[in-house]
Amino acid sequence: MLYTCTRDHNEHITASEAICRGISPSGGLYVPESLPHYGADTLAAMVPMSYRQRAKKVLGDFLGDFTADEIDACVENAYRDEKFGGSNPTPLHKLDDGTYMLELWHGPTCAFKDMALQILPHLLSCSMKRVHPDRTAVILVATSGDTGKAALEGFRDVPGTKVLVFYPCDGVSDMQKRQMVTQEGKNVGVCAIEGNFDDAQTAVKTIFTDDGMKRELAENGMMFSSANSINWGRLLPQIVYYFSAYCDMVASGAITMGDDINVVVPTGNFGNILAAYYASQMGLPVHKFVCASNANNVLTDFLNTGVYDKRRPFHCTTSPSMDILVSSNLERLLYQMSGCDDEKVKAWMHDLAANGVYTVDDKTREAIEKAFAAGWCSDEDAAHMIARLENEKGYLCDTHTAVAASVYEAYRAKTGDTHKTVIASTASAYKFPQSVLEALGEKPEGDGFAMAETLCEKTGEPMPAPLKALQDKPVRFTESCAVSGMKEAVRRLSGV
Ligand SMILES: *Cc1c(COP(=O)(O)O)cnc(C)c1O
Repeated sequence: MLYTCTRDHNEHITASEAICRGISPSGGLYVPESLPHYGADTLAAMVPMSYRQRAKKVLGDFLGDFTADEIDACVENAYRDEKFGGSNPTPLHKLDDGTYMLELWHGPTCAFKDMALQILPHLLSCSMKRVHPDRTAVILVATSGDTGKAALEGFRDVPGTKVLVFYPCDGVSDMQKRQMVTQEGKNVGVCAIEGNFDDAQTAVKTIFTDDGMKRELAENGMMFSSANSINWGRLLPQIVYYFSAYCDMVASGAITMGDDINVVVPTGNFGNILAAYYASQMGLPVHKFVCASNANNVLTDFLNTGVYDKRRPFHCTTSPSMDILVSSNLERLLYQMSGCDDEKVKAWMHDLAANGVYTVDDKTREAIEKAFAAGWCSDEDAAHMIARLENEKGYLCDTHTAVAASVYEAYRAKTGDTHKTVIASTASAYKFPQSVLEALGEKPEGDGFAMAETLCEKTGEPMPAPLKALQDKPVRFTESCAVSGMKEAVRRLSGV
């Protein structure tokens, strides 16, 4: 299977090349030229499989130039029982007869990004050996909190790689910041940015495509690659858990093979929900995708009107990993929904860069409206949902998951849609103890750890071990810079 570019159909490259490059020279994103199709028989055959077996099946169908042994090794290394607290890394928690929480945060950094970032370094390492055997991959990451730590932990001491992370200094929680500044490993660098996530992401994209920088790196035996969700190797592993959840629901008798389900996803960069959409295009029976946003509701407006307009105030919310005004992965949805029209996608992305706004054509808008519902909720609504889930169902959830639960409740009230529903639960509540405590009516006091202890006393939910361990780790990274200084920081941290 080959990959092409959302903005240029003349590109035809292998999976390994797409994973090494991350983004196309044209600025577009790599997409598979065709999708494998899973009929009822294929799905039925996946029901008795373990998570790792399901992952090997899906990855094998997309990574045409990987050997079966390579895929085997990548999957086995990534989803080890001890890293994910058991053989099923993505357990379903039944909230009530119709609603299931798909818990994606049992990995080493306690957010769903581990699902992709524990395996991407292995996929990249295999790809580099094939495509650029004598180069070190330099991973640049702009993070709104969870990606940075997950990337640092995934790439730490993986041979042939370096990882450099930029985070907005006022856009992440105390716990998230601590996770990053204490990161261990010989090939890691972390720097705070005086700006928001979008500033950091835009700057990373610019540095990535800067010919001068690329030359400097090449002269030093290095090349850029990306671990942001624009990298196909990041998105692909996320497709797996939607199939896996469906199979688990069939196995437990929650649904019958072939039944449609709804998928609700708290959305920022549009990676997680896009993976669900790809799964449906491959044959996963989905009735509706519900895209849940916080006050940064640019996606809600887009999915409901066909106009993407980022010219609006940026809000710092209690769900910081969704504080995003430019959702990079939406470009792949536009590509699929426009009938794979690279010229159209290129023109829309040009409008967005030049004017901050674009409008899709009626056909594309109608196709999107048919598949997607969209809503947003305030910090107050999310807090209210955290309290209700804890008090009424004894279920502790984080602020991002609460946004999804709140938007889903409104969707269900409005539509009366009673399909069985999977809500993506994207982080442990212990990553955001301040907001969660406030939601539960407790006064957060002290640092992140003191708050986590209060949360534990209040709810009886144990604190995940990887977060607990941070308490004793020394701070290694205190550097910060302006957005304009990021290029220099990349030089310094990569050692060119
Ligand atoms: C990254 C993240 C999201 C948003 O996911 P996207 O794939 O960017 O849409 C939601 N919740 C949490 C906890 C996250 O870390």
